[in-house]
Amino acid sequence: MVSATAYIRPSNWQLAVESYEKERQDRESAETSRDMLTVDLERVTHEAKRFSEQLKMVQDTNKRLQEYNTSLQQYNSNLQADASKSGETISKLQKEKSAMMETMVSLKDLNNSMKNQLDSSRTSQQEAIRVKEEFRKEVECLRSELQQVRDDRDQSVAQVNTLNVELANCKEIAGQSTEDCESLSVKVSAFEVTCNMQQEQIQTLQKQLAFATEKLKLADVTAVEVMTGYQEQKVKIKDLEERLASAEFQIVEADKLRKKLHNTILELKGNIRVFCRVRPLLSDSDSSGAEEAPISYPTSVESAGRCIDLMNQGQRFSFSYDKVFDHVASQEDVFVEMSQLVQSALDGYKVCIFAYGQTGSGKTYTMMGQPGIDQKGIIPRSLEQIFKTSQSLESQGWKYCMQASMLEIYNETIRDLLAPGRSSNFEMTAGKQYTIKHDPHGNTTVSDLIVADVFSSADVTSLLAKASQSRSVGRTHMNEQSSRSHFVFTLKISGSNENTGQQVQGILNLIDLAGSERLAKSGSTGDRLKETQAINKSLSALSDVIFAIAKGDDHVPFRNSKLTYLLQPCLGGDSKTLMFVNISPEASSIGETICSLRFASRVNACEIGIPRRHT
Ligand code: ADP
Ligand code: MG
Repeated sequence: MVSATAYIRPSNWQLAVESYEKERQDRESAETSRDMLTVDLERVTHEAKRFSEQLKMVQDTNKRLQEYNTSLQQYNSNLQADASKSGETISKLQKEKSAMMETMVSLKDLNNSMKNQLDSSRTSQQEAIRVKEEFRKEVECLRSELQQVRDDRDQSVAQVNTLNVELANCKEIAGQSTEDCESLSVKVSAFEVTCNMQQEQIQTLQKQLAFATEKLKLADVTAVEVMTGYQEQKVKIKDLEERLASAEFQIVEADKLRKKLHNTILELKGNIRVFCRVRPLLSDSDSSGAEEAPISYPTSVESAGRCIDLMNQGQRFSFSYDKVFDHVASQEDVFVEMSQLVQSALDGYKVCIFAYGQTGSGKTYTMMGQPGIDQKGIIPRSLEQIFKTSQSLESQGWKYCMQASMLEIYNETIRDLLAPGRSSNFEMTAGKQYTIKHDPHGNTTVSDLIVADVFSSADVTSLLAKASQSRSVGRTHMNEQSSRSHFVFTLKISGSNENTGQQVQGILNLIDLAGSERLAKSGSTGDRLKETQAINKSLSALSDVIFAIAKGDDHVPFRNSKLTYLLQPCLGGDSKTLMFVNISPEASSIGETICSLRFASRVNACEIGIPRRHT
């Protein structure tokens, strides 16, 4: 402050004043706090006085406590001395106690073992009692048994005595028995052998039986299987049979339809139809061993049943016709194929059926056949069919009149096969004229010719019998004439329907032609030559007529032969014609066969026109 004042400059004067002020304020506050501190000092001195008094009191208390403490320590040391004495006593007692405990444990063990021993002794005692009881019973039993045995022994002794007596007896007998015994033992050994054998046999038999039983069982099983198989097959067969029957029925129906359609086609074409038939090799003495011609029948679909091939001198000849019947075809087979044509006669057509071929080729067999149902030819079958059908048509109002005539043309001369007395005297008919006349309606009459009304096929059969008798008589009289003449069977059919007023007139001509063999082959002279020339002439006239019609010529040479003239109305454009060409199968006939087949082929190529019904 002194230095501050020393360095006060007039500019810092104000600052010094302020500092002084501050210093004075600080001195005043310090004086206030000194006063307050003096007050506090007085109070503290008072307090210190009180505290020293209290200290004095405490020091007294402490002194007394120290004295109490000392006495307590004294008491404590006494107690500790007692405690150490008691501890010694306790440890001594504990030692005694542990010794006693050990003794007690060992005593307990001893007690347990004693108890166990006691228990086991008790059970063994009980066991002993039981065993003793059993032994007692056993002893009783044994005693009674012993008694029994004693009794038995007494009895046995008695028995032994009697047996000794018996033994003495037996010894005597034994001498004899030994021999018997020996023989018996031999027998016994033999029996044993047999027995062994039989046992073996029995065993094998048993084995066999077992085997057989097994087999039987197997067989039973098989039989059952077979039976079921059989039943199944039976059912199958039945089913197949039914199917077969229905298939067959369908085939038959289809075949019928085919024939009908075939016929319709032929009718539309108006063809002359040609069937070829080959007869079988004959077994009679004349021709047996004859060589067979190399004939074959193509089997391709289009030619089956329609073609025939034959070889001659290394050359193949093939022909086809409307139908070819081989050597196994039956009369029935043949008739079935042409029965429609016969039906046509009933429907009012003019029908001609010819059999053409060399002698012995089967023309007469085909036309007439032989006695017996299967052997009947076309003529009897046709008539049967005509009468049967006409009868069935009666129900529709149709009435038919049938007239039959039979003639033969020999050397251009007509002969009536139904003329009375012809069979006995052929010459009786010689004066008759037999002139052929046609009226404008196409009806043909032959003067003096017998025309018989027929009402049944039986009527016709008797007429045919008569005719064939006439022919066969002629044959013996006239040197095989039958095959040198044409046989013509004519049936005129007139039908009228009373319901519809319809009228039909049909004609069925069935012609068994004379043998077609050529002159050179027959090597004939004289009458034979004349015959052959006549036949050839009439056959060529027939073919001329057919070809002329086929060509549509203005002039048809019907008058060139009796046969063509007779058949003129039936060979016209409105008729139906069927030509059978009959063939011999022998190799020796091959030349004639080829000629016949060629002729038939030419005929087959002809068209006669559209057949017309005559109503
Ligand atoms: P044709 O009249 O042509 O001279 P046949 O009809 O008299 O010939 O036949 C000559 C022989 O052949 C006869 O004994 C006849 O019975 C036999 N014959 C012909 N064709 C057959 C055939 N298809 N089946 C069995 N025998 C036949
Ligand atoms: Mg004949």
